[in-house]
Amino acid sequence: MKNKYTIRITEQDFNRCRTTVLSDLPKEGAAFLLAGRKVIGASEELIVRRIVDVPKSKYRIQENYHLDISPKAINGLISLCERNNLGVILCHSHPTDSSYSPSDDHGEKRIAESIWKNIPNVPVGSLLISPTKVRARIWKPKDGYKPVSSVTILGRHIRKIFLNGRDHKTNTPSDIYDRQILAFGNKGQAILSNAKIAIVGLGGTGSPVAEQLVRMGVKDIVLIDPDVFDPSNITRVYGSTYEDGYKRFLHTYRLRKKKIPKVELMSKHLKKINPEIYIQPIRDSVVKTDAAKLLLDRDIIFCCTDEHWGRSIVNQIAYQYLIPVIDMGVRIDAKDKKIHGAFGAIHILRPDKPCLWCYEFLNADRIRAESLPEHERKSLLREGYVQDIDSKAPSVISLTTSISGHAVTAFLQLMTDFMGPAGDLARLNYFIMEGTVGRGSSGIKESCVCKKVRGYGDLMGLPTL
Ligand SMILES: [Zn+2]
Ligand SMILES: [Zn+2]
Repeated sequence: MKNKYTIRITEQDFNRCRTTVLSDLPKEGAAFLLAGRKVIGASEELIVRRIVDVPKSKYRIQENYHLDISPKAINGLISLCERNNLGVILCHSHPTDSSYSPSDDHGEKRIAESIWKNIPNVPVGSLLISPTKVRARIWKPKDGYKPVSSVTILGRHIRKIFLNGRDHKTNTPSDIYDRQILAFGNKGQAILSNAKIAIVGLGGTGSPVAEQLVRMGVKDIVLIDPDVFDPSNITRVYGSTYEDGYKRFLHTYRLRKKKIPKVELMSKHLKKINPEIYIQPIRDSVVKTDAAKLLLDRDIIFCCTDEHWGRSIVNQIAYQYLIPVIDMGVRIDAKDKKIHGAFGAIHILRPDKPCLWCYEFLNADRIRAESLPEHERKSLLREGYVQDIDSKAPSVISLTTSISGHAVTAFLQLMTDFMGPAGDLARLNYFIMEGTVGRGSSGIKESCVCKKVRGYGDLMGLPTL
């Protein structure tokens, strides 16, 4: 398999970087991008954590086709990488669309080698920006440079710049999707068909999300859920039937629960809708390392679990790997079998937007309770030391379905940008008792995990089991 190299950066960072290096046209400009890395099989991606400006005083020569940065600035960069355990993408500009020059080749190689002399093997890449073009490459120790095939820019939508001239493949059967193509065009449909998605949790919100995605033409889905199907799930799990819940014994009227894993049931159902889809059904919790790893090559992750522990892992992945997560939930407060309050929310989690900790949607005590073995939790619960996480919560299919619909619409925005600037969403509130839906947000907390892990990728561990 041929190696594939890519770069991932937020839209804010990309725009700032572009403005910085193009500010002195026709003279060249430079910036350093501190970067983490993700390696999956033969694919390697450099992930931008933040921009480090190179002050003009640190340019030794700044001309139209030549830029030389002082050794002092390079040494400063090396110690920054060393202190933070990060690599770097060297960024500079050209006044025209010309490619890398021999002096670029020589200069970048020299910088890469002096970085590796101090910190062996950290990622080193390069970004060349001109007024109308982007070029990129990744340097490898003892192996020269490798061309980068695409740069993913993550903002209110996911924009991919293909550097080798290839765009999204557009071979979808248009007769099935003709109504949708009327809305999003052939390119939009191709983007949906090529999307790699994960759904964590297949209950009241996860199952209608899966159903909608497959009907829209999404073909590559990872499903993660540790639970088996229970007949009481029929009231809200799409794709499930009476037959999935019970096994009838021959010659008797006795019924027994079948205990089919939810991921298997869902996968069978989705393949009936579209036999050509590729599904990876994972019957495990996302707090397990092997399950969480399957999220890392996805374009978008849907977080549809109520568990705080699992949500905290998915939340962290959004910022550490710059993979947008659409989190959703519905809460119904009922007392004496009567609803007193009902609220739904979706969060679009991505760098530059608050995370679930910033919103105070995650609770450390609850995560602790969820991480305890069952017998220990039960005895601590009797003594009043942990929260009760085992009692059943009310759930209603129309409410979980509404929220899942809003979540899939947020997915469409991320993939196609059909909403334009209004699609810069952080959160949507569904005030069920008032009958209203509206935008929401919050500040980003100063020392939050979403800031600490941003862009590190594999260069920092995930708190999984
Ligand atoms: Zn150059
Ligand atoms: Zn946060």
